[in-house]
Amino acid sequence: LWQDVPLAPPDSIFQLTAAYKADTFKDKVNLGVGAYRDNDNKPWVLPVVKKATAILLNDESLDHEYLPITGLAEFTTAAAKLILGADSPAIKEGRVVSVQTISGTGANHLGALFLSKFYKWNGPARVYLSNPTWGKPFNYIPSNILGTEGRSANHHAIFRNVGIEPVEYAYYDPKTIGLDFNGFIDALKGAPERSVFLLHACAHNPTGVDPTPEQWKAIAEVIASKKHYTFFDCAYQGFASGDLDKDAWAVRLFVELGLPLLVCQSFAKNAGLYGERVGALHVVSPNTETANRVKSQLSVLQRSEISNPPSHGARLVSLILNDAGLFEEWKRDIQTMAGRIIEMRRELHRLLTEKLQTPGNWDHIVNQIGMFRYARA
Ligand code: PMP
Repeated sequence: LWQDVPLAPPDSIFQLTAAYKADTFKDKVNLGVGAYRDNDNKPWVLPVVKKATAILLNDESLDHEYLPITGLAEFTTAAAKLILGADSPAIKEGRVVSVQTISGTGANHLGALFLSKFYKWNGPARVYLSNPTWGKPFNYIPSNILGTEGRSANHHAIFRNVGIEPVEYAYYDPKTIGLDFNGFIDALKGAPERSVFLLHACAHNPTGVDPTPEQWKAIAEVIASKKHYTFFDCAYQGFASGDLDKDAWAVRLFVELGLPLLVCQSFAKNAGLYGERVGALHVVSPNTETANRVKSQLSVLQRSEISNPPSHGARLVSLILNDAGLFEEWKRDIQTMAGRIIEMRRELHRLLTEKLQTPGNWDHIVNQIGMFRYARA
């Protein structure tokens, strides 16, 4: 048995983490996984999360019963408001379906699975992914560290797993180390009507290159005219600019324009809850009746995969989102993280240019946003 199972390559990012842990060099730096570190190169447990944890620990009414299949309602309701806006008409009109997922990865998977079963494909089941995208092969990491096959391709794999074929759209322009805006627009125009496009809501992974508000408007316009479906992946709300609302701007614009879409939401980065796996999938539907049907099917899918999402992290985030004081504190913690990232970019840029007079142009370090710096020919 299993003689024919081929050996799969290890995941490049997590292999790099293992290599980092094994390394005894005292000044080592891990530039692989996208996880925030403080000034001492340590993971940061947000002070607001510590506070919320203490509240949960002292809450005698809590038990370890199952959550509902679609998750903790106080969490999913507040999470929808966080991404779509507290005054979102779509929420008020009862058109938003929100399901708690295993962080952002689980939201991507559940969203993809749902599309694979129910999307009215115009031709073969395909998803358009930016080139590059999350988990795109990291060719520039030397093969003696990763092995030639040790590359992850998570967006690609997530869709392939459910029988949706990934195809790429132009995104990164090596000439400008920025956005290939014309290429992107051409891809949107050239795809068959009602194609599915995955867009990174903010802090694009791995390039750190985001469209400007004007470019987002132009993108939305083409998406509307071609009746495309937008699969938003939002793993970094607050991390890009330090402002939760600003980073949700593109998603809210699309909802305001009435474009059909779903949003995958992760609290791994902005709440520092990586291992707790807190996330949600929000499907914005045309009306309440459709929303109810969508929710019923998402429940069926979720039941056969995880039955019930985990409670601890969702309770933490729910406390933070639903308490005005904790929410304000969280926003300050987010500013601390985003502010430090921006400051580190500036300092790295200064050292390379002013101090070391390194040849070449390093402006992309300060122009790109979020945790990633990307410059590849
Ligand atoms: N999407 C993107 C673009 C990401 O960068 C990440 C995190 N690396 C995720 C989704 C999901 O991460 P998680 O499952 O930890 O929330």
